[in-house]
Amino acid sequence: MKVLVTGGAGFIGSAVVRLAIARGHHVVNLDALTYAANLRNVATVADDPAYAFEHADIRDPQALDRILAQHRPDAVMHLAAESHVDRSIDGPATFMQTNIMGTFNLLQAARAYWIASGRPVGFRFHHVSTDEVFGSLGPTGSFTETTAYDPRSPYSASKAASDHLVRAWHETYGLPVVLSNCSNNYGPYHFPEKLVPVVILNALAGRPIPVYGDGGNIRDWLHVEDHADALLTVLKQGRPGRSYNIGGEAEVRNIDLVSMICAHMDVLNPDGAPHDRLIEFVPDRPGHDRRYAIDPTRMRTELGWRPSVTLDQGLRQTVEWYLQNRDWWRPLLDRQGVGQRLGTA
Ligand code: NAD
Repeated sequence: MKVLVTGGAGFIGSAVVRLAIARGHHVVNLDALTYAANLRNVATVADDPAYAFEHADIRDPQALDRILAQHRPDAVMHLAAESHVDRSIDGPATFMQTNIMGTFNLLQAARAYWIASGRPVGFRFHHVSTDEVFGSLGPTGSFTETTAYDPRSPYSASKAASDHLVRAWHETYGLPVVLSNCSNNYGPYHFPEKLVPVVILNALAGRPIPVYGDGGNIRDWLHVEDHADALLTVLKQGRPGRSYNIGGEAEVRNIDLVSMICAHMDVLNPDGAPHDRLIEFVPDRPGHDRRYAIDPTRMRTELGWRPSVTLDQGLRQTVEWYLQNRDWWRPLLDRQGVGQRLGTA
């Protein structure tokens, strides 16, 4: 299969690109190379004849038409997005332009290309989304594919809007779409403004480890390579028009996640132990959702997919990766906003 992956220089997109190439697919990576991107994330496949890169912006409709006509993909996997909730609080405009209008442009371009190609039944537009569109849960229950949308941050509102557009293009124009909504990802190549790398790198540097609010917010965590595997499964086996909730079945409070990472640091980098002495509670994020949880029944029973590593195994491997790949993350610490407290409104 030839797959056009948008956002393939980012955290999850690059995992999809690497896995798709490893599985024998051809990949066209379309990315605008924003502050969150890094072409080193795809360095291991950059010279593969099955890989091509297009430096383009999904806010540019002409570029999308040109790229689809030139590369003639069998599927589009749409991951390009502004993805950091804290940045969406400080500067929501880019989130609306990329996540909503960019998705609209891509749907229009994909629809025109699909029609011009004779409406192939096997064509797929896979929209990659988040569990954050469902809002905040109380102490019990979990999100299913039919949970009502209730986004509460500019980021999740923009992703919810894009999900609605994708469903509308299926219902109205018959575009063969699939959607997936995933929980929090972690793993190698995670940009160092997100919680897991912040904890590892601050612990390594002996700097305070910031934990928002009382640390009691609960998230479900999935290893990024398991997510990439789930996404290729949805692309291949998912039913058009349907959405799939993807999760790691690993719900933990933020403070417990931070403590787990510190415990791995104590073993793998004993110099600074105990690292949890660096934990510092800081004022909460405005509108911080309390709890997310995914019911992954559809992924498990319909598509036979489940995660391959536990949270503890995946965190250990992630800590090892950051300790062994300092050349990857060091230059990223100089990028705008990294290391600063963002999103305090
Ligand atoms: P990321 O911020 O690491 O990467 C996003 C990529 O998109 C970057 O390479 C960036 O350059 C590119 N991009 C941004 N704006 C663009 C534009 N206008 N045109 C073209 N490219 C553009 O994000 P991520 O964490 O890899 O997330 C990928 C997708 O998965 C997003 O759609 C996100 O909403 C979704 N998602 C993320 C998580 C998570 O935990 N990170 C969980 C569920 C779903």
